[in-house]
Amino acid sequence: MKDEKKKKKVKVIKINADKCNGCRACEMICSSFHAAPKYSSNNPARSRIRVIREPLRDIYVPVYAGEYAVAECTGRDKYTIDGKEYEECAFCRASCPSRSEFKEPDSGLPLKCDMCEGEEMPLCVKWCQVDALTYEEREEEEAEEEKPGDVETGLEALANKYGLQKIMDTVARMSQKG
Ligand code: SF4
Ligand code: SF4
Repeated sequence: MKDEKKKKKVKVIKINADKCNGCRACEMICSSFHAAPKYSSNNPARSRIRVIREPLRDIYVPVYAGEYAVAECTGRDKYTIDGKEYEECAFCRASCPSRSEFKEPDSGLPLKCDMCEGEEMPLCVKWCQVDALTYEEREEEEAEEEKPGDVETGLEALANKYGLQKIMDTVARMSQKG
């Protein structure tokens, strides 16, 4: 019998930067949804989508938080689209050491878009009144390789910040208390 590869559902948010007016409703609802308790506060610095806004140059670019990067990259990209020049790092989704976006302001831990886990539709898409963000789902064959989960990514970030030994000592101390 032929080996059938498993299918997975892929969720896609499409961004049309030409439609974005920089209202930042997406940042507000994302930070509010992820507040603890849910909806208890909003702070765009905690949002997993950030809108790069330069009204004088008519530049509005919504960018989603992607993977955490241990080191900043040594190269930089500059884009010119329709005569508008975009700053270096403008389209990058990484939480990385060279910028403050996509980091939890208090702990410095990396933030990553989780597609509003548990919700039928990503809330930033729902709140974008001008359809700069749209949502679709499709099926793809599942890759074999395993990706690190959120806990692993968080631990890696802590280990890079404080050193692995310190994290292990802290966990050992906490488990003794518990
Ligand atoms: S809600 Fe839509 S229009 Fe407003 S900033 Fe976000 S992407 Fe842009
Ligand atoms: S999909 Fe959800 S988690 Fe991701 S940026 Fe939008 S509101 Fe935030």
